[in-house]
Amino acid sequence: MKSVPLRWLIVTPFVVLALISGITMYFVSTVTISNIANSVGTQYIKEVENRIYDRVQNFMAPLSNIVEMNLEAFTHRPELLDDLTPLASRFYEQATPYNQMTFISMATVDGRYLASAQDPTNRSKHNIAANFINKPLTMEGFEYDPVNNIGPKILSDATFSYDPRGRPFYTDATQEAKMAWSDIHPYYGFPTLGIGLSAPIYDQAGSLLGVTATSIALIELDKYLESLELVDGAYIFLAEENGTLIATSDHSDLYRKADGVTTRVNLNNHPNKAFQMASQNLTPGTHKLSDKGQEYLYFVRSISLKYGKNWLIGILIPSAYHKSLLTDYTQSTVLITLALFICIGLIGSLIAWYIGKPIQMLSQAANNKNIQSIQKLPQPLSNIREINSLSQGLSSMADNLFDIMQNLEKKVAERTSVLQDENVSLLENSLTDELTQLYNRRGFNLVLEPALKKAQQSHQPITFVLCDIDHFKRINDEFGHSAGDIALVAVATNLRNNTRASVDIVARYGGEEFIMVFINTDVTQVMNRLNSIQENFKTHPVIKNQHITMSFGVVHVDAGLSMSVDDLIEQADRKLYQAKNSGRDKIVS
Ligand code: GH3
Ligand code: MG
Ligand code: MG
Repeated sequence: MKSVPLRWLIVTPFVVLALISGITMYFVSTVTISNIANSVGTQYIKEVENRIYDRVQNFMAPLSNIVEMNLEAFTHRPELLDDLTPLASRFYEQATPYNQMTFISMATVDGRYLASAQDPTNRSKHNIAANFINKPLTMEGFEYDPVNNIGPKILSDATFSYDPRGRPFYTDATQEAKMAWSDIHPYYGFPTLGIGLSAPIYDQAGSLLGVTATSIALIELDKYLESLELVDGAYIFLAEENGTLIATSDHSDLYRKADGVTTRVNLNNHPNKAFQMASQNLTPGTHKLSDKGQEYLYFVRSISLKYGKNWLIGILIPSAYHKSLLTDYTQSTVLITLALFICIGLIGSLIAWYIGKPIQMLSQAANNKNIQSIQKLPQPLSNIREINSLSQGLSSMADNLFDIMQNLEKKVAERTSVLQDENVSLLENSLTDELTQLYNRRGFNLVLEPALKKAQQSHQPITFVLCDIDHFKRINDEFGHSAGDIALVAVATNLRNNTRASVDIVARYGGEEFIMVFINTDVTQVMNRLNSIQENFKTHPVIKNQHITMSFGVVHVDAGLSMSVDDLIEQADRKLYQAKNSGRDKIVS
């Protein structure tokens, strides 16, 4: 089975768990943050929308309020229309609280007209327009005078023909016979759009008395949208239901003039791509717009003004805004997960090292062929109980083994020495003739060689004597084999007695044949020895008064000369043969 390192065993499950929790965390929190971002985004949009809604409603309210107020007053008190001059003061009072209130007017059915006119871009300029002071159906401008209502005349073209009854504000209201909105239109002479509301006035009998109207400059709405602080790339617009723009958060034009013709800008022909995209959908609600990599969350809300007028608020928030939030979050999630991995890896490695190190030391010591390396391990080896008890177990096992080995070594040494002794005696036995205790032929061969070598090196003479008992067969035949053995022992004793132990060599060469080698002994001395042997045989019976004789073949090698063992024996044998042939009991040299 494949073995797994402890480090992986510990680190892997940790890392897998961290990975799973990291991924889960990432997805759960991404979804959550996405939802939060969406709902926060939606919440934010709703709030902005509400603010714009309230602002537009508040902005537009005075328009209808003033018209309604004047309608009410003139309907119930038609005598107010007898002389329009005092209305200058009334209209002035009504207009001044509102920056944007540009016109409050009254046109009577008989063609008289008075208006309070305010410059929407410069509040201090307030004038009165009238066409009944000097010449009816003309238009003249006067400064407002709080005492006389109509103050000094402003230079103007007094010949300008003006019949209010032909103007749209009058005709629209009288034709419809009810409150009528004007089209939104650029104001003459001022860089702003404006809108008017006019009411026809009837007496109790239902006869038309005239039309009262108000008009408001819309530039403040445009400025308001421009002043809103939005996230980068976001847009807001206020438009009519067909997409024609009333105000936008960017600074683009709301109308264009070309060849004397003024055209208002619609979402669908707006230079800004985002507004063009918005024109695709003007249904109130939340939408997603996407075109060529540009993505927006898009909210549309309808604003209902009085008397059947509906406008639209549109808000575009780039999706990149959410995405950047998400990207930031994703990056930090990835970083945290990564840091988590590294920490877990490090901690896992540390734990693995803490556990694995002493185990590795144990394994190294156990694999080391020297048992003492286990005994030398520090105790306690680790702070981990299980590892410690394993180490202590191994250590005491090593101690036991050490004792056993030492005993074994002792026993082996003893046994070896016994075996060595036995070997020596075995060797001696194998080299010794059991009967006579002389060297046998193998023993002779073994000791001869070094003795010869030594003698030759020391320039010593050597004498070989091969000897054989004469007619030994007769002894056996006459007294038995055991008696023959006793005789052989006596012969051996005689020969040994006449040689020097540990210098000369005596061996039983065959059945009743012996060999003697005299080292560093001259011929005369050898002869003396042999004679002594012969003499002994004569004086001592070997068994039951039986004397024996021996024949000798003698080969002498002088000092400095050398001869092979085989040649020596062969020559000695030949001389022994001669001794036998010449009557036995002879020494042939
Ligand atoms: P020769 O003078 O020619 O040497 O005559 P011989 O009888 O000694 O010689 P032969 O070779 O004919 O006989 C040797 C005898 O020695 C025969 C054998 O039975 C006897 N013999 C040899 N070894 C032993 C032994 O170990 N013990 C006994 N008892 N007899 C032995
Ligand atoms: Mg013999
Ligand atoms: Mg013989």
